[in-house]
Amino acid sequence: MRAIHDSETAARVLGIRAHQARRLHHIGGLCFDCRLLSRAVQRLYHAGRGRFPALDRARRHGRAGRNGIDRGLFTGGLGFHTGAERLGCTVVPISGGATERQVTLLNDFGAQILCCTPSYALNIAEIAEQMGADLRRLPVRCGVFGAEPWSDAMRRDLEMRLGLKAVDIYGLSEIIGPGVACECHVEQHGLHGWEDHFLFEVIDPHSLQPLPAGEAGELVITTLTKQAMPMIRYRTRDITRLSDEPCACGRTHRRIMRITGRDDDMVIVRGVNVYPLQVEAVLVGFPGIRSRDRGDDP
Ligand SMILES: [Zn+2]
Repeated sequence: MRAIHDSETAARVLGIRAHQARRLHHIGGLCFDCRLLSRAVQRLYHAGRGRFPALDRARRHGRAGRNGIDRGLFTGGLGFHTGAERLGCTVVPISGGATERQVTLLNDFGAQILCCTPSYALNIAEIAEQMGADLRRLPVRCGVFGAEPWSDAMRRDLEMRLGLKAVDIYGLSEIIGPGVACECHVEQHGLHGWEDHFLFEVIDPHSLQPLPAGEAGELVITTLTKQAMPMIRYRTRDITRLSDEPCACGRTHRRIMRITGRDDDMVIVRGVNVYPLQVEAVLVGFPGIRSRDRGDDP
């Protein structure tokens, strides 16, 4: 299938007029009605924020939530931004980089929700420690982290150094971006997938047959309400299992347990999908470097 590089062609294929699209995103394509993205992320903040008095105030009075995800064509930054605004938060759209300045703004604006990749949250903690700033004394009480694999040990480290409760999120650009699933603040064990917008299945990646809840396999997602660019049984390549066990938070959406691996060779770096062959394609463009297949001379 040929790649589609212009919005007119994309819109024609999808059966809509280009001017009807509200927004164009990288990979996720056309966003005909962007309310799904903001609604899903708004729900994500609800699940993660818990009952912290500071965050309740954040909702009522529109205090600051800080978004450290890059914007541009990437669905992450704008998704988190619009979802937080929909919840009633004031957003500090600072993106990544200039970490010392970020520590200063966390302090100055009294942000109560920190949203970024877990590895960048660790970077913020390290820079703050070098600056002599104790982030545990700041109002930040909730960390919404995702876009890359991380462990429970890293969660404990982040919670101790930042003085917050850290929850994991799951999403992918091909579906809507962030807001597909999120841990709740109660159990922090498995991510509630929003089943009124998405159908989740786990399949055997070899036989392609659906597996019962609790068995590990490849996660497959069908969008139920997405407009302009719906996905039917999209193979994520992520290996996980689904849980139907009741959750102490009271939510009935089934949980997607931690991603334990992939059934291809892709790795995720700061939320960006990277394939080893792409790295090789760049490296071989430099003089003196060539591709080395098995059997080549060293
Ligand atoms: Zn829960």
